[in-house]
Amino acid sequence: MKAKILIVEDEPAIQELLAFNVVQAGFLALRAEDGESAWRQIRSIAPDLILLDWMLPNTSGVVLAKQLRADARTKDIPIIMLTARGDERDKILGLESGADDYITKPFSPRELMARIRAVLRRHIPVLPDETITTGGLELSPTNHRVSAQGNNIELGPTEFRLLHFFMTHPERVYSRTQLLDQVWGTQVFVEERTVDVHIRRLRAALEPAELDGVIQTVRGSGYRFSISSNQRPV
Ligand code: CA
Repeated sequence: MKAKILIVEDEPAIQELLAFNVVQAGFLALRAEDGESAWRQIRSIAPDLILLDWMLPNTSGVVLAKQLRADARTKDIPIIMLTARGDERDKILGLESGADDYITKPFSPRELMARIRAVLRRHIPVLPDETITTGGLELSPTNHRVSAQGNNIELGPTEFRLLHFFMTHPERVYSRTQLLDQVWGTQVFVEERTVDVHIRRLRAALEPAELDGVIQTVRGSGYRFSISSNQRPV
């Protein structure tokens, strides 16, 4: 999946140039011209990274960065601050406001893309490589495969992450909110019932192997992965 990069820049020519380079580098470009439209975009499509201009109309980039950092749902979105200012004091102010990196205009597109890649690498949560075997299931993060008694189980990316989390945290009850934080990450805007949808899909995928009962609903609390009591509904 392409990383989504939100470009917050009020100058049309620079916004265009940034979007062009972002798309050329293989990312998806979203655009906003001020703080308000930035928030609208952030709420509807959680971006993977924000390129934030310092000088914006109304709300400055520094203020916006502070607002993003103060909100639990956006505090982990990496920010690269763009500015025409080059002095050291401004750089420190930019980083103190919560930006992950800082680049001074005019910048070379190549340098900017290198910074974007470096910041994204620091933030994308990576599953550990070890193959996990539990409850009759074998899950391999390296080749993205799950099998039961040698039979391949087809899972979507979210179900895969969900099962990975469950298999590494068995016999414990997790609320929908906890699962969202652990599996989806804290910077996404999804409703709690989304968890139920993916749980249903995961159970349906495990059903042919008669393992759907390992994902248990704990009424009023959430879900548990339990291998000691595979309670298959009959
Ligand atoms: Ca500007």
